[in-house]
Amino acid sequence: MNVLVINCGSSSLKYQLINMRDESILAKGLVERIGIEGSVLKHEILGKDKVVIERPMPDHKVAIGLVLDALVDEKHGAIKDMKEIGAVGHRVVHAGEKFSGSVIITDEVINALEECIELAPLHNPANLMGIAACKELMEDTPMVGVFDTAFHQTMPKSSYIYPLPYELYEKYAIRKYGFHGTSHRYVSQRAAEFIGEKLEDLKMITCHLGNGASLAAIDGGKCMDTSMGFTPLEGLVMGTRCGDIDPAIVTFIMDKENLDTTGINDLMNKKSGVFGISGVSSDFRDIENAAKEGNERAQLALDAFDKRVKKYIGSYAAELGGVDVIVFTAGLGENSIANREEICKGLEFMGVKIDSEKNNVRGKDTLISTADSKVKVLVIPTNEELMIAKDTQALL
Ligand code: ADP
Repeated sequence: MNVLVINCGSSSLKYQLINMRDESILAKGLVERIGIEGSVLKHEILGKDKVVIERPMPDHKVAIGLVLDALVDEKHGAIKDMKEIGAVGHRVVHAGEKFSGSVIITDEVINALEECIELAPLHNPANLMGIAACKELMEDTPMVGVFDTAFHQTMPKSSYIYPLPYELYEKYAIRKYGFHGTSHRYVSQRAAEFIGEKLEDLKMITCHLGNGASLAAIDGGKCMDTSMGFTPLEGLVMGTRCGDIDPAIVTFIMDKENLDTTGINDLMNKKSGVFGISGVSSDFRDIENAAKEGNERAQLALDAFDKRVKKYIGSYAAELGGVDVIVFTAGLGENSIANREEICKGLEFMGVKIDSEKNNVRGKDTLISTADSKVKVLVIPTNEELMIAKDTQALL
């Protein structure tokens, strides 16, 4: 079966058509600037050239229509007929407390996801637009929803409750949800497979370190805690997000800088993190280069980032009562040799020993700890699309 995986953002759309027989990617692409002037579809077929299609795309329905046209196009298509798409798997950001796993999309599921819009106002509406567009354009093709929050639904209540008045949890569902769940689930499963051990027997800490970054504490394949919270703002120092700060700073800055809620949200989500500390960039490559040239704030940003990850690893090891495996994934986790080294440095007391030579790797499944390291440390490139496609196939 071929599964079309769709990941809709507010003005963008990423897709992959995956042949589940051998898990190969038949085609993939990206639509940008949906609803904005200059809409463009970049479409790529395995082994053929990339094509760039510039066409007005006022909404997601038009964009998905063009993606489907491209997929069956005589010249740059991957399949002959839309019937060759057996199912569509949609990435959906927030499923609140409603779903703890992937589900076949029905009208009831759509209603439930609409109720979660309040929890993810930037993401869920776009995800729902993608679902609505596919429903119209591919009426008979089944669809599956795979949620970023679902994997974290196994957290015990003591991990997800905030020490706020309990009525606020009851009234507004204010609790820790966690994100990047599909990635944490994929790399934890893949890591166990890679080292030839059973996931059920392992205590794992997975580190998804990209522009957005989060850790998960996983016991026997079940998530016990995660660093992102009610929103993706909590936890680590990120590209432009502040992560954990003293909550009193929020109202203090609002008063001093005369900011309203939009202003403070903007500051914490888009102007903070390593970008805020360094003043250089949100991209770790730029910051690493600046630090090498002697920029002290760039070095400070890297140090603050690494220290926060280290602190979370320590706290999750305590929470799990030990750790067997630590996994690094996503843009920075897969590629930054220096950050991985720095994060693991000093953790020898808990049995973490990195092999510098093995750590000299980018974007490849690799064991980077020494043979005598009690904790196995791995680099596992994430593959959320494949996880979504696998769930889709399994449910059908
Ligand atoms: P997201 O999906 O959250 O946008 P990614 O997982 O794509 O993020 O990660 C993007 C980040 O990965 C960028 O900030 C970039 O700095 C970092 N990154 C990618 N390649 C490298 C590299 N070779 N060295 C250091 N950092 C890298």
